[in-house]
Amino acid sequence: MGVPLSQMWTVASYVLGKKLRGVKRYPVVLMLEPLFRCNLACAGCGKIQYPADILRKNLSPEDCFKAVDECGAPMVSIPGGEPLLHPQIGEIVEGLVARKKYIYLCTNALLLEKHLPKFKPSKYLSFSVHMDGPKEEHDRSVCREGTYDIAARAIAAAVKAGFRVTTNTTLFNTSEPAELRRFFDDMMDLGVEGMMLSPGYSYEKAPDQEHFLPRAQTESLFRRLLHNASKRWKFNQSPLFLMFLQGKWNLDCTPWGNPTYNIFGWQKPCYLLQEGYVSSFKELLETTEWERYGRQSGNVKCKDCMVHCGYEPTAVSQTFGSLAGLWQTAKSVLLGPPKSKGEMVEAPLVRRDEPHQLYALQSFAPKSNQASNTELPILTK
Ligand code: SF4
Ligand code: SF4
Repeated sequence: MGVPLSQMWTVASYVLGKKLRGVKRYPVVLMLEPLFRCNLACAGCGKIQYPADILRKNLSPEDCFKAVDECGAPMVSIPGGEPLLHPQIGEIVEGLVARKKYIYLCTNALLLEKHLPKFKPSKYLSFSVHMDGPKEEHDRSVCREGTYDIAARAIAAAVKAGFRVTTNTTLFNTSEPAELRRFFDDMMDLGVEGMMLSPGYSYEKAPDQEHFLPRAQTESLFRRLLHNASKRWKFNQSPLFLMFLQGKWNLDCTPWGNPTYNIFGWQKPCYLLQEGYVSSFKELLETTEWERYGRQSGNVKCKDCMVHCGYEPTAVSQTFGSLAGLWQTAKSVLLGPPKSKGEMVEAPLVRRDEPHQLYALQSFAPKSNQASNTELPILTK
């Protein structure tokens, strides 16, 4: 696993404490969006489509600290926009480190090398670098040539300077497993601590609506990606979530697990959907109609969603809150990343050079696992 022991211990004791006190809904990671502007315009991004006056706004460090204190989650993810464009990002990170929060500062890394002197290496701070696959795939995904090379150089520089560095990779129906597997090796060679994978969410506002993955294709893709996974690969996410992505473990969404705070306030109900804002975390918990969201709700917006911000908190909760979850996680930690085994079956994907034409790619889908997966109980909290 790519998560340091001190962080695992902090999260485990936090979750167990909540469970022992009978708290039904609690946050695990605060998604703190200090701004929406970015120096890229990725085709699959649903975060940057705002008028200029909104894009110019920043959360102040005090706004950020208030939200972090109010929420109480042990981990804080700082996405955006591009957080390194925030003029006080150094001060925000320093304040969160002082609060002993484990921070994932998400960045496309175009400015990372330049801004490294603003930060001090700490076990609480990890740069989570947006890398959507090998060079050609990444540059196409972020719609600008040369970005992979800049990000790879920045990763190497940050690792050399003693920072924790992870990657986050969003997968679409153009992702090619063989190339991604080589990309995992490249990231390990660069010295990243762990990699985070997630299918993209079909944001209504994203310019490119062609390449989001429906659930069955996501599972097929992840089974091929993690088939005979190399022991070198380290993932910065829970083994249960990786199994879920392969269709081997049932989870439902915990939308309150990764609550989102940005310039509009606390976002209902999750990081991906914008169905209203409230002014306090308490109000978010108490006034959101949570039963309207998640896989079992029948909500069409949740039907194909398998994104980490909804399902990783459920996986974490099960890891530390159920014997089956703990046992499966322990096995994965001891024996390496969950593997996919099985017979070759056909899975339809969209070919990257012909995005509208369906064709069949071979995959290693585990028939026996697929069958048993449908019988697994869905455990959410
Ligand atoms: S780098 Fe991130 S925030 Fe910026 S456009 Fe791309 S996906 Fe959106
Ligand atoms: S399933 Fe996805 S879109 Fe629906 S509430 Fe959960 S995270 Fe949000």
